[in-house]
Amino acid sequence: SSSSPPRLAVRGLTKRFGGLLAVNGCSFEVEAGSVVGLIGPNGSGKSTVFNLITNLLHADGGEVLHDGVPIGGLSLHKVARRGIGRTFQEVKIFRELDVWENLGLAALGRGLTDWQDRATSLMADFKFSHLKHETGENLSIGQQRLLEVAMQLLVQPGLLLLDEPLAGVHPVVRDTIADIIRDQRRQGRAILLIEHDMRFVMDLSDRVVVMDHGEKIADGPPSEIRANEQVIEALLGA
Ligand code: ADP
Ligand code: MG
Repeated sequence: SSSSPPRLAVRGLTKRFGGLLAVNGCSFEVEAGSVVGLIGPNGSGKSTVFNLITNLLHADGGEVLHDGVPIGGLSLHKVARRGIGRTFQEVKIFRELDVWENLGLAALGRGLTDWQDRATSLMADFKFSHLKHETGENLSIGQQRLLEVAMQLLVQPGLLLLDEPLAGVHPVVRDTIADIIRDQRRQGRAILLIEHDMRFVMDLSDRVVVMDHGEKIADGPPSEIRANEQVIEALLGA
């Protein structure tokens, strides 16, 4: 509702790498029960925004508010414990362990003890119950991405950050990922989605934020973003 703070608010977020302004005064919000697409050319600062939200990197300026609470000073662990889940552009799973062991370790890392039933139902939802004892490195990229999402969803995070979940993924898995995102939104979660596949982003997002050279250049509903000349130029002229 209008009286409660957004699930995620990024205010004037700034990050330098030496002389490079990777993120320059970015501000946007993600409401609970909505999907926000975060798009822009390669190197425009999208993944860095995720690293700043989760405190994998420390910002040089600005702040991040989760349910109205500033989280910039928190450890990685405390950010996760608040209910912020995140997947990586380069999948992070334990490649030498099987699917079930990966889920178990994710649960352990979040202090979950009663995780087995939830893990079983997530595997069924994600259509990989048959892969329970398959080793991580034997999974396809799409299955690895699904496993990474399942590892994050064990704790039912209120905010989910997905970094290029479709990269390298088979079309069948792509539909499963779309279903998962819609289902999470229906359950009131806030989702911030980095993805290069424009059709996917435009179909799924309630709002789209566009970055170019570290700056936000547009923020609006997909219909508006599609028609924005500056956006088209940034995406085509990269
Ligand atoms: P995107 O995800 O939009 O492709 P990134 O956020 O990964 O972009 O990168 C933004 C810019 O910051 C790029 O020029 C990238 O090379 C640089 N960059 C990202 N992470 C680091 C880092 N840890 N150290 C130095 N430069 C970085
Ligand atoms: Mg990236």
